[in-house]
Formats: sequence, structure tokens, C-alpha cells
Amino acid sequence: DIILLEGDIMEDTIAAISTSLGVGAVSIIRVSGEDAIRVVDKIFDKNILNAQSHTIHYGHIIDNNDVIDEVLVSVMKSPKTFTRENIVEVNCHGGIATTNKVLELILRNGARLALPGEFTKRAFLNGRIDLIEAESVMDLINAKTESSRKMAMSNLSGKVSNMIRELRNKMLDIISNIEVNIDYPEYEDILVVTNDMIEESVSNLKNQLGKILKEAENGKIIKEGIKTLIIGRPNVGKSSILNKLIDEDKAIVTDIEGTTRDIVEGNITIDGILLNIIDTAGVRETSNIVEKIGVDKSLSLINDADLIILVLNNNECLNKDDLMLLESTKNKKRIIFINKCDLESKVSIDEEVVYGNTITNDGLDNLKSKIKELFNIDGIIKSDMNYLSSATHISTLKECLKIVDDILIALENNLTVDMLEIDIKKIWELLGNLIGDSYDEELLDNLFSKFCLGK
Ligand code: GDP
Repeated sequence: DIILLEGDIMEDTIAAISTSLGVGAVSIIRVSGEDAIRVVDKIFDKNILNAQSHTIHYGHIIDNNDVIDEVLVSVMKSPKTFTRENIVEVNCHGGIATTNKVLELILRNGARLALPGEFTKRAFLNGRIDLIEAESVMDLINAKTESSRKMAMSNLSGKVSNMIRELRNKMLDIISNIEVNIDYPEYEDILVVTNDMIEESVSNLKNQLGKILKEAENGKIIKEGIKTLIIGRPNVGKSSILNKLIDEDKAIVTDIEGTTRDIVEGNITIDGILLNIIDTAGVRETSNIVEKIGVDKSLSLINDADLIILVLNNNECLNKDDLMLLESTKNKKRIIFINKCDLESKVSIDEEVVYGNTITNDGLDNLKSKIKELFNIDGIIKSDMNYLSSATHISTLKECLKIVDDILIALENNLTVDMLEIDIKKIWELLGNLIGDSYDEELLDNLFSKFCLGK
């Protein structure tokens, strides 16, 4: 008889299991809201109504006269809590039955089940964290590599938010100067905002946005990994390279041409950066319909990849398939790997390449070094990881950059200051959306619904 309410009324006291559901030593049920302490007090055999904030209490969860579990209850009073509301956490024994029973009792006594991400949403709505920080909470939970953990932590500490806030304040300065000029033209001692001044500020903004966006590429790599495509003609050794890289026999290696028709994937990390490696069907001109589907699929993946490892067979002269692949990957970050170097060389290429032999592992270390160099992995790892990484944030900044360009064009055409103000305000608003100074309910719901329950 659990009643689920729609919507997320902030007055409600909410509860959820915050640990992952399953068998474990301990589970934590978190309760947040005005009534959190009263609700748990009703089912706890110790009185916590007058407990001091940030104290832990040993006791039992009781249902009528039934002892449900032996627990530790933490009481944290508003406002120094994650949600800024009263929070009570019940540490009970792990396992599905006990955890669910305790949650059920809490819900029966006045709390409602939290929506996914609702605790974090409250932390945001109550002003404890901004939107970028809220999203980095999720990134921190989802972090699979050391670098993504570090970046999420850096974002959570507000460094990126401050960067955005600084840009926003600069926009606000211009806006307020323009407004004063328009409203009080008779004041002689105020700063008259000229197009030159706007041009200077907007050009600065353009530079800063460009820099943040450039660095956001690092953020994307840290968060999502480097999408790596191994491509080449059949039988050049693509699967062997993937196998050696991931150090297990995941891809099928045979000497029958056209074996790897399906896409095979593997992951490795290089110095804490994830590489999602895809081994593709060998590319060659073919009349076999099934093989052709594989070939087309391989080619279609090129655009989307961050890195191409183009494999050539040292023992065969370049043919038109090789040349086509060299041509279609020339604008991508790519490494040409010339395999089978134990055999007689028939290939020469006028470009830096990595030579290898996947039977003896020769060249694989060089391949990894080259990847590190191409993506400046050493630099990323040593940096403070102060990068924007969310796709939405990146597209918002790109939108700002577009408006900046519009303003610069308008300035060239000598548009008046008050006309430019509209665009400057728009940038100010967009930057505000990023950190959540202004927000759209629907977007907010969408964002927090991606969180796990209990966070
Ligand atoms: P793919 O079709 O490009 O994925 O190629 P595979 O990895 O399946 O390899 C094709 C054949 O080439 C297999 O028989 C491998 O054992 C062989 N092979 C792979 N790398 C080398 C190498 O460096 N030297 C030699 N001699 N043979 C290799």
C-alpha cells in the first residue's frame, strides 16, 4: 500500500534506498525533508526528535512489536546537509527483504518514494549546488576511470561553474552600462558605452569561449573515451591488433578473407583514458551482398570516430582499396599501422607511420605512444581537469559563440548599442541556463530523471 505521488512537491518528505539493490553487508535508506526526523522516529526504538545534528544513533527499527532490524540512524539537520533539508539515513542490514521492509515502513509513516535524482534536484533547487555541479554528481557516480572521476570531482568543486559565472558577469557589466546610457543619457559622469568597447568585450568573450570549447574536447574524451576505429582491407591484421590491445581473444582471427563481418568491440585504458576500440569488417570492393553490408558499415563509422587506426599489410603493394581508405580518413586523427613487418616490405608511404608485427607484439607500444601523443594524454592527466564535458553544455556554448559572431558582424555594420544589447542579453541568459540561474522545468526534470534512485 505504497502511495506514489506524481510530480515532485518540495514540501514532501522523500525517501529511497541509496545503496544499490542486492545482497550486501549494509544498505542505506535516505530520507529528506521537513518531516524526515519525525518519520524515522516513529519506527525507531530510540527518541531522535531532540537529537543533535550530525549524530549517529544505535537502535532497532520496529513495526508494532516486531523488531525488523538492528540499525544505525544518522540525523543531519537543515541546512548543513546535501539537500539543505533535514536528512536521516538508516544504515540497515543489506539484502533485499530487510531493506525493502524498512523503506516500506518509512513510506507508510509519512514519506513518499523519491523520484530518480530528486535528492540532487533538491540540492540544486535549494541553492546548495548549481546545475553543472549537479550533473557532475551523476558523472562522479558513473565514473569508470580514474581520469573521469577526477574531472567529475573538479566540476563538482565548482571550478567550471566559476568560469561560466565570470563570463556571465562580464556580459552583465556591458548590459548594465548600456542600460544606464539609455535610461540616463543626461548623466555626464557615466561611462558612455561605445561600439568599440562592446567589440573589445565581445572579442574577449569569443576567445574565452573558443578556449573552453577547445578544452571541452578533452572533457569529452575523459568522460566518454576515445572512439577508436580499426580499419583496413581484409586480412591485414585488424583483429590481431584488437586482440593484442585488449589482451584477450575477443575478435575472431582467421586467414579467410572477410571473416570479421560483424563489428567487434573492446575497451582498454591508456593512462586512465578509456579507448573504445571497434574492429570493423575488412574493406574491399566486393559483389557479395552480405560482405558489402559489412564494408559499407565500416566506412560509415569513419565519420563518427575520434581516432582511426588504418592498418596496411607490409607484404602487399597498396591497391585501390588502400588508397580509398587513405583518402577517406585523411582529415581524421589517424595512425597508419603497417603490419606484418616480419615479411618482405612492399609498402612505402610518404607520411609518419607505425610499423608492427602483431604476432610478436612489435609496434604495439609505439602505437600506444602515438595515441598518447595525438590526444595529449600526458597533458590531460597532469592538468587540473577543469573541463566542460556535457554535450548539452558544449552545444549551449557553441550557440553563444554563434551569437558572438552575429554581434561582431553587427558591429562591423555599425548597429547601435541598444540593438546589440538584445544579443548580449541572450548570451547572458544562455550562460545562466548552463549553471541553472534560470532554468526550464521540463529540462530540469529530464536531467534529473537520468539519475539513479536514491541520489
Ligand atoms: P583482419 O582480417 O584484418 O582482421 O586480419 P586478422 O587479424 O584476422 O589476421 C589475418 C591473418 O594474418 C591471420 O592469419 C594472422 O595470423 C596473420 N597475421 C596477423 N598479423 C601478422 C603479422 O604481423 N605477421 C604475419 N606474418 N602474419 C600476421
